[in-house]
Amino acid sequence: MFKALLLEKNEQGEFKAGIQSIEESSLPESGDVLVQISHSTLNYKDGLAICNKSPVVRQWPMVAGIDGAGTVIESQHPGFKPGDEVILNGYGVGETHWGCLAEKAKLKGDWLIKRPEGLSAAQAMAIGTAGYTAMLCVLGLEAGGVKPSSGEILVTGATGGVGSIAITLLHKLGYTVMATSGKPEQADFLKGLGASDVMDRALLAAPGKPLQKERWAGVVDCVGSHTLANACAQTRYGGTVTACGLAQGMDFPSSVAPFILRGVTLRGIDSVMAPLALRQQAWERLAKDLDLKKLEQLSNTIGLDGAIEAAGKIMAGSHVGRVVVKI
Ligand code: NDP
Repeated sequence: MFKALLLEKNEQGEFKAGIQSIEESSLPESGDVLVQISHSTLNYKDGLAICNKSPVVRQWPMVAGIDGAGTVIESQHPGFKPGDEVILNGYGVGETHWGCLAEKAKLKGDWLIKRPEGLSAAQAMAIGTAGYTAMLCVLGLEAGGVKPSSGEILVTGATGGVGSIAITLLHKLGYTVMATSGKPEQADFLKGLGASDVMDRALLAAPGKPLQKERWAGVVDCVGSHTLANACAQTRYGGTVTACGLAQGMDFPSSVAPFILRGVTLRGIDSVMAPLALRQQAWERLAKDLDLKKLEQLSNTIGLDGAIEAAGKIMAGSHVGRVVVKI
């Protein structure tokens, strides 16, 4: 038996989330690597799944948890052997394949990466999908030619997991970062991570003109909707906007003006199905470029039994930084 955070829906459509003991024989047969999970985490998507807020889960019952770190117990995959320390992010785990908010998970070896040297399992989960997505955004800015000397970078949804790690990374890499947040009381926290200043997110949240005063050399947007539209409208000639999130909304009420009149690039960021080579690059850069002391400042640790309550806080938008779940 192993303990897991199980999400269930009955025939009447009634939803239930709870910690349960499950037979190991119930683990998905399609997995070829059995992993003893030591740490997991809670991302925005885990919040949605655990609070049943949107159709993240597409197969019932489902063990929650889109991220996990642990040790291989058994492997039928040529790339992994017992004792290997591994990380899993995304690939539909916790959505269509049983996830990592559990003592054990049976995963596909093709989805796993070896935990980089220099990062503990707890640190890897403090980073999690949120931090790895933040790194994908940084790589997206770099690919767009945005350099520290290019000018200010805007990070929206700043106190969230992606936003807080993006600020930490960009600061360490020498960029000047403007954070937008709906939590004015967290301004000192954000400046401590490396934001040069903090703006009220309300300034970007309402409909705006298609072209506005040029300000940002690059953008990491976790929010979507009018915020993303205004961010594009304020991006300087030739700048790059990386769009990874939808905390304000999935809509994008913009015009083509920033793209055709200022040569702005809008770069989509997907962590879930990102190819293995890009994942490995992102994790290697995280191990090298992330200030681990700041990572500690922005994360807190809970047990599996605290995961449901913590997911509710993520959905209420009241949490700050990253949550590590010590299994
Ligand atoms: P968090 O819940 O940790 O952070 C989201 C932040 O967005 C909040 O802390 C808040 O920051 C801000 N926010 C919340 N509600 C609103 C609102 N109505 N309007 C404007 N801002 C709001 O989530 P994550 O950082 O983990 O994820 C951020 C987004 O990125 C999510 O939408 C998530 O689904 C997406 N994501 C996408 C991935 C991908 O592969 N593309 C991977 C990972 C995440 P503040 O109070 O400081 O404004």
